[in-house]
Amino acid sequence: MRIDKVDLFYLAMPRVTRAADGTQDSVLVRLRDASGLEGWGECDASPLVTIAAYACPPSHGNIVGLREVLVGERLETPADVPRIGERVLREALDIEHAHHALSGADIALWDLLGKRLREPAWRLLETVEPGPAGSGLAAPRPKLPYASVLFEETPMATRERARALRAEGFEAVKLGWGPMGRHGEAFDVALVEEARAGLGPGARLLVDAGCAWGEDDEIAWRRARAFAPFEIGWLEEPFLPDAIAAYGRLRRRGPAVPIAAGEGSNRLRFAEDLLENGGVDYIQIDAGRIGGMTAAFRVRRLAERRGATYVNHTFKSHLSLAAAIHVFATAERFELLEYPAGGSELSRALVRDPLLRGRDGLVRAPDAPGLGVEVDLEAVRRFVKPVRIEVAGRVVEETPRV
Ligand SMILES: [Mg+2]
Repeated sequence: MRIDKVDLFYLAMPRVTRAADGTQDSVLVRLRDASGLEGWGECDASPLVTIAAYACPPSHGNIVGLREVLVGERLETPADVPRIGERVLREALDIEHAHHALSGADIALWDLLGKRLREPAWRLLETVEPGPAGSGLAAPRPKLPYASVLFEETPMATRERARALRAEGFEAVKLGWGPMGRHGEAFDVALVEEARAGLGPGARLLVDAGCAWGEDDEIAWRRARAFAPFEIGWLEEPFLPDAIAAYGRLRRRGPAVPIAAGEGSNRLRFAEDLLENGGVDYIQIDAGRIGGMTAAFRVRRLAERRGATYVNHTFKSHLSLAAAIHVFATAERFELLEYPAGGSELSRALVRDPLLRGRDGLVRAPDAPGLGVEVDLEAVRRFVKPVRIEVAGRVVEETPRV
């Protein structure tokens, strides 16, 4: 089959605030072949910037919009997906957002190919790159979902939030962003202390500092030591996403808790840098940012070889969650799954068949063809913001009717 049509959809809630809540809008990529078979992907990115990367008229041989490269491409075997991705990145060499924007199309390619071959994406992905001996399983392994939410504005409200999540049955919870890092050490410690008190002993508590300390490894080292008595599973993003040297300095000082980072990786090399020079224990990859499931899978392989732990980053809909879990479904050692537990109505309504927790509390990769989730067109119609971009009277982008 060939890619016949590349459609983009800008979805948003009626009101978008400055809260660090990535579920307030979204951009979807839909690929179609001539028979009407479709694949869907979601980017965790600014929708309009992403749409521009697909729709922009060519500037020269190294700035060709993604749609122009994708249309007409042949998609028959798993090897075609990385091949198409490489061609996109070559033709869009000087489009800074190309890897990030490719994420949506790459995810849609795996969805479309899986539907065509009647195979789940996790099985097809195994062909991208062979793993170390014994690293891959023949069947997906269920993951332990951790509820991922923002810190409340006060320690006491955070305690209640943690308690409520435990009551919902979550055995692992991550709190992040919000006021962390804004009011000094005593307040930061109180947030973590109350989160632990609300969660109770036994459950896993993960802390996301939300880039609070810039590049200051002294503060991060002190916070890690102060948080350690509350038995946190990791301290996430103490620094800005690309503060690789700060991560390296913190590693050399020996932090009191494991360090996690990587969600900002908007290309494969970024994650590789964090692993090799930042020395992070957990590498957190968003398939909707790094260039899709193909690039995310390559980071999984890097982590397997280096003894680091791969975790997904997902703060969008269950379309993104499905893409995320397929990437490491067959990796036995990587057991945790970031699981959006709050989120906007848009993110909750986008697929008809969300990845629910089983009776054992675990989440399984779908076994249906492709991503194994179905986009709810009614939700797309409800939240779509039609886009029309015109250059000198010529329409270069127009949202199709759903
Ligand atoms: Mg985070």
